Parts: sequence; structure tokens; C-alpha cells
Amino acid sequence: MDTQRIGLHVSAAGGLANAPENAKAMGAECFQFFSRSPRGGGAAVITDEQADLFKKRSKDYDFESYINTPYYINFASKNNKIYHGSINAVREELTRGTKLGVKYVVTHLGSAKDHVENVKSSEVPASALNQAIEGLKNIFETDENLTTELLLEISAGAGAVLGDSFDELATLLEGLARPDVHVCLDTCHMLASGYDIRTEEALEKTMQEFRSKIGIEHLKLVHMNDSKKELGSHRDLHEHIGMGAIGETGFMALLKHPDFQHVNFILETKHDEYIAKDLKFLRDNRV
Ligand SMILES: [Zn+2]
Repeated sequence: MDTQRIGLHVSAAGGLANAPENAKAMGAECFQFFSRSPRGGGAAVITDEQADLFKKRSKDYDFESYINTPYYINFASKNNKIYHGSINAVREELTRGTKLGVKYVVTHLGSAKDHVENVKSSEVPASALNQAIEGLKNIFETDENLTTELLLEISAGAGAVLGDSFDELATLLEGLARPDVHVCLDTCHMLASGYDIRTEEALEKTMQEFRSKIGIEHLKLVHMNDSKKELGSHRDLHEHIGMGAIGETGFMALLKHPDFQHVNFILETKHDEYIAKDLKFLRDNRV
């Protein structure tokens, strides 16, 4: 197994090959980026020259990289434009990732709000999960020789959002039954969804459930974010490491836990005066 890498989400503004450059400047060992505007619109074609420069820099700096999908993705939408747009966008990102030599595309799944009567309901009906499974299968129906794999990210669980529980993620993985689809955990989203990771004991209990329902072989990446809100808040508000409800104790426990020794970490905290400290904390405290 590769050694663990610790990195962060960086901007690719001004050209995709700026992403590895930005990550290098911040002292990262891996990085995540948006390959297109996260707010929507089409993706600019990646030229061979751009791809070569991105790959050269990634190789020179010994980086592994990940693409995050745009915000509007919703595999349970009953709006055809959004539903098919989601399938196309994730397929495009996997194709673009393959061209760039990116390891994983990380996607969230969307919301079951079109499947429930009360928009405030937190219930995710089977019809929404089934639709999401069909949509995710659809991504792979055109044979694109993809080398970039797909990760489904756990969500914070606001409203009827999909994928906020290990049960839902397990249902999606089982429904898909693909060897190239796995899971990305996000520490802020886990806490928001009610998974306690604030102490060694709580983390082990949470990971026991993860191992039995999903299986540790499906854990491929972790987004490292503290949470501005408390356990079970269902709010997705990232905080700097140690400055939120997870706290330094929670992150120390995670850095030491055997389940996390062979996965890479990506910070998604705000790029302000504290981000260098976030990176340093993780690097200083890894086993
Ligand atoms: Zn995340």
C-alpha cells in the first residue's frame, strides 16, 4: 500500500495545470480541485497540451489528485434536465479525470426532495435510492475506458439528502455492484449526520458500523474538516481543524486509527490564515 498523503482542495483558476502548482506551493502531498465551474455550465475542452502539463507537474511533484463534481448534481431529481445533466457531468468528469491521470472523482448524490411530500422530511424513500442507482449505472453505460474511479461522498444529511448514512451508502454500492465505485468520508458531514468521531472510543464504534455495513475496502479518501455545528446538526459548515465540534482530540484519534492509515486526507477548510496550520496539524500528528 502507498504511504499516506495529506493535502487539500486547491483552485484551478486560470488553467487546470495551475492546480498542482498551487498544491505544491502550499506544501500538499495530494490535492483535489474542480475541473469546471462548480456552479454549473459546460466544461471547457481539455487540450492535449493542458493534460500533458497537468500530468508532468503531478509526476514531478509526486502528487495523487481528485476531482470534485459540481454542486448541482442530483441523481434523485425528477427534473430530467438535472437528472440527465448529473449523469453526463459525472461521466464527463471521469473522462476528463482519465485524460489528466486523476485517481478519483468525488461526487455527492443529491436530494430525494422530489420523492417526498413534505420538503422538510428527512426520509429517503426507496424510489429515490433506486433512481440514484439507475443514474449511477447509466454513467458507465458508454464504454470510455475510464481509469479514474468514482467515490460517493457521505453527506451532512440536511433534509432528504441522499447518502448521509452508512446504510444508504451501502444500498447504493450494493445496487451498483461495481469494482470502481467506492466511498469518500467527510469528517464534518459524518458528525453532522450523527456519527460521533470526537473521541477514540466514539470513532471506533462509528468505524465498527462502517466496517460491518460498507467494508473498509471501500474507504478510499477522507475529507478532513472540523464542524462549526454540533453532533447530528445536519448542517454542512466546515471549520478549521481543532476549532470546531470535532476538536483536536477527534482528529488525533482519527490520525491514529488503523482504518485510516492507508487512505489519503484532503482538507476542505477555508483558504485563510488558518489553512497552513490545518495542514501542519495533520502532518505533525500522523502516525
Ligand atoms: Zn467533503
